[in-house]
Amino acid sequence: MIAKYIKQFANLRTDASPARWSEATRHRAPHKPLLLLAVMDLFAQGTITSNLIEPNPDLGELFTLYWARVMPPDQRGNLALPFFHLRSEGFWHLIPRQGKEPILAAARQIRSVSQLRDTVLGAQLDEELYEELCVEESRNLLRTVLIETYFAPEVQPALVEQGVINLEAFRYSQRLLEHARAQQITERLPEEEIYRPAARNQGFRRAVITAYNHRCALCGIRMLTPDGHTAVDAAHIIPWSVNQNDDPRNGMALCRLCHWTFDEGLVSVSPEYRVIISSLLTTADNVPGHLLTLTDRAIIGPVEQSLWPDLDALSWHRRNVFRGPEL
Ligand SMILES: [Zn+2]
Repeated sequence: MIAKYIKQFANLRTDASPARWSEATRHRAPHKPLLLLAVMDLFAQGTITSNLIEPNPDLGELFTLYWARVMPPDQRGNLALPFFHLRSEGFWHLIPRQGKEPILAAARQIRSVSQLRDTVLGAQLDEELYEELCVEESRNLLRTVLIETYFAPEVQPALVEQGVINLEAFRYSQRLLEHARAQQITERLPEEEIYRPAARNQGFRRAVITAYNHRCALCGIRMLTPDGHTAVDAAHIIPWSVNQNDDPRNGMALCRLCHWTFDEGLVSVSPEYRVIISSLLTTADNVPGHLLTLTDRAIIGPVEQSLWPDLDALSWHRRNVFRGPEL
């Protein structure tokens, strides 16, 4: 049975254009093979437990990570394109949302993740393929087919490595969340030494952003772009360089502006979990925009109470980073 899918994976219909696509992707559009690699990561994580692949932020993030390993920074990946167009391969069956059947049947293309999520629940695989992907050896075989068929030898090791990092990062994020939920003391985990830095960064990011559901803890902004990118970073409260602590309670999801103002000490968080603002924000030529409106507002923490920021870490930030007023 696997032979059938090896053949299909090696013969995906992809746009071939030397003008648009570089030698790294053998002058062909890399969307479909990269999406399939990301899907296989979800199987490896064990997060797919029934035959339905959803176009969720987790899949979008994995797709983007692979994309960044082979594509130039000015060319952005868009999960919606391959998710829709894989339907022409015969093994990928889009399942419309109730009432959206006519829209899906008439669609020639879907260009944004929001439109995709609005139209389909997800994709169902051929039952035989689903069963194959639940088996590690089959996944590894199909992964190799994709990497060797659609990518130049120079970039193949980077894609293999990204698969390893993605799995390590997932395991690390689960470990961090379990540790925090058990309310164990926030201190560096012994396991941190066995994870490579890229997996640690990605795992911390995953744990924190998931806990805050992509919402900025300070200003509340939550934005996912049509191609599935998120506005928030995972910020350490006490920087990694100080105590090497990736506990999610030493983190907050912050948008880029809030992350910068937090790291610069222009804002901090009180023991009552309220936003405090440095007087420097309003001095000289500063025009702090909406930041002043956050003064004394409650932060927006994780839904899970056990994952809220550690008060000792926040106190450290107020003492060592925040630039007044004195508390
Ligand atoms: Zn923000």
